[in-house]
Amino acid sequence: MSFFDTSIEFLKGVGPQRAALLQKELNIFTFGDLIQHYPFRYEDRTRFYQIKEVNELMPSVQLKGRITEFEALGQGNRKRLVGYFTDGSGELELVWFQGINWVLQKIKVQQEYIVFGKPNRYGSTLSIAHPEIDIVTEKKEKGGYLQPVYSLSERLRTKHIDSKFISKIQQDLLRAAQQHLRETLPDHLLQKHLLVSKKVAINNIHFPKDYAHLTLAQHRLKFEELFFIQLRLIKMKLVRQEKFRGQVFNDTSVLTTFYNQHLPFPLTDAQKRVVKEIYADMKSGKQMNRLLQGDVGSGKTIVAFITILLAVGGNAQSALIAPTEILAQQHFNNLRKYAEPMGITIALLTGSVKKSARKPIHEKLQDGSLHILIGTHALLEEEVKFKKLGLAIIDEQHRFGVAQRSKLWQKNEEVYPHVLVMTATPIPRTLAMTLYGDLEISVIDELPKGRKPIKTTHRYDTHRLQVNGFIKTQIDQGRQVYVVYPLIDESEKLDLKHLMDGYDSITRTFPDIPISVLHGQMPAEAKDFEMARFKKGETKIMVATTVIEVGVDVPNASVMIIESAQRFGLSQLHQLRGRVGRGAEQSYCILMTDHKLSAESKTRIETMVRTNNGFEIAEVDLKLRGPGDLMGTQQSGALDLLIADLSKDADVLKKAREAASELLENDPQLAKPENKMVLQQIQSMRKTAVNWSRIS
Ligand code: ADP
Ligand code: MG
Repeated sequence: MSFFDTSIEFLKGVGPQRAALLQKELNIFTFGDLIQHYPFRYEDRTRFYQIKEVNELMPSVQLKGRITEFEALGQGNRKRLVGYFTDGSGELELVWFQGINWVLQKIKVQQEYIVFGKPNRYGSTLSIAHPEIDIVTEKKEKGGYLQPVYSLSERLRTKHIDSKFISKIQQDLLRAAQQHLRETLPDHLLQKHLLVSKKVAINNIHFPKDYAHLTLAQHRLKFEELFFIQLRLIKMKLVRQEKFRGQVFNDTSVLTTFYNQHLPFPLTDAQKRVVKEIYADMKSGKQMNRLLQGDVGSGKTIVAFITILLAVGGNAQSALIAPTEILAQQHFNNLRKYAEPMGITIALLTGSVKKSARKPIHEKLQDGSLHILIGTHALLEEEVKFKKLGLAIIDEQHRFGVAQRSKLWQKNEEVYPHVLVMTATPIPRTLAMTLYGDLEISVIDELPKGRKPIKTTHRYDTHRLQVNGFIKTQIDQGRQVYVVYPLIDESEKLDLKHLMDGYDSITRTFPDIPISVLHGQMPAEAKDFEMARFKKGETKIMVATTVIEVGVDVPNASVMIIESAQRFGLSQLHQLRGRVGRGAEQSYCILMTDHKLSAESKTRIETMVRTNNGFEIAEVDLKLRGPGDLMGTQQSGALDLLIADLSKDADVLKKAREAASELLENDPQLAKPENKMVLQQIQSMRKTAVNWSRIS
């Protein structure tokens, strides 16, 4: 057992009770956990400010001076104590609303104190409320340090475990730990990337002398953290590539026929690039595991079909699995248009396909006469057996669990099928590299030419009459309209009421227009029925919650009105907007809000109005929400980083990934003596790490 595995209970000043609290509240079990509980910010004690320099925009400042006089002001619960504080350069007020008696007993006028706190301004007066106040000692007077601030919980605070306490036990631990702090990165990396040693970094992350030392420590630890994540991911990829053969699909004759005789439109440059990437995988002899990212409407379907043609060229079958019945149906309709003229057989298998209809599908799959099977989860069932499954395509992959994906693999036990996962949720590069770092990634970052960008505007609720007028003119021109209400939690009664009120008001405004309504509490058949009616154009307005499916295609719908738009996340707004802009006509998205908007809501709305680019939007969303929230809770585990921040550390991540990739290229087994510490570190991480297999 290493020093760092020692239970926190045995650290001086901790003991069993505090240890239990630290475990429960902060997940700190061992010395190692504590030492990796890095400060989340630092208070600047590097210098004393002069009062005349101080302004209300500064964060906390440290001052040295005397209180000339105390004055009790106000009555009842507005009572406060003011200490007039001067350092010779100016004066400011120290203010206490609570603990007034304690202050009056402890703090003396005309004695020199060190004061620390956040300056505020009321009128012309500067003040610091509830300052930290300390007697001047020689050590404090010398100053020159950044004071670490550690994250805590309310519970810990009530038990008197505060940042100072953590800082104290860190200090004790560090003293004892010095001889145990091992380097984890090889020399060649330290030199190449100008990284300080682990020992220096750990000491300076907790107790930095100044900002320069802190920055070096942070950089080193961020690099290390990201490096090991990337190393594992790339290693996983290499292992898989080595272990899993892939069927070789290098016959492009079917594809050429399609290109020459059936291609419905010229491919965009991005589509061509992605097809090349996929083809390189498919003929490589290794199993493909590729993520295809592309905004809604970027044209992933045709790329999927072209991939299928490569499998057909190799006499193999393909499966495409979608998360819902309606999406599977849609894929079936689209691909069938391409497949049938070429004599390629295609079938649809979903939960609602009757038993009698399944039998011939099963048979044709087994004798190999069926080339393409589109479906939902029904496709994963035991009795669905392929003669030779060569390719599995998964649409909207984030809705599928690992277990389901591996079932798909098992459909060809001889040689696993190539796997292409498609997602319409653009993910910022830093997140993609971390969440899908073991997959190859292709991106379609260009929309087909001639597509009219959706016009997005922001309107206040007070403009509803104009908005209604606009809806009317669009419907008169033959278009259809979505009106979406927030229903974040399907059980929210109030939200449901807003939706139904909205529906009532729209039916009253447009008494002659057929209108659909759709929400999560309706039975599934009713939902499908309403969706189908809208899709067929029988209803002109669809009043709905966000249950309207990702990827649902109603080309004639050209207006998306989003009610209470401030309540939606940025990615969600973008996803919703993607439901329009699918036809030839100009499309519109109108974001409705009331006048009260938080700064963050404003940024979201402005971003939507400014750009249609999903990747740009995802980057802004990442900055606003941070990685965990962005990806939702199931995936955020992999994003719980100790020190690196994927919304800010893109540069470090890129370098770390390159370094990891280079290292594995030169030393795939990590067998070289100079990389021994890397191997050791990975092995020790493996014991404790989160379950990384969940990722692909
Ligand atoms: P998504 O990426 O959202 O799945 P689709 O594959 O459904 O996008 O494509 C959206 C629409 O754009 C479809 O109607 C499709 O036929 C059309 N499309 C795709 N690629 C092109 C292209 N290169 N030129 C013109 N239209 C295209
Ligand atoms: Mg699609």
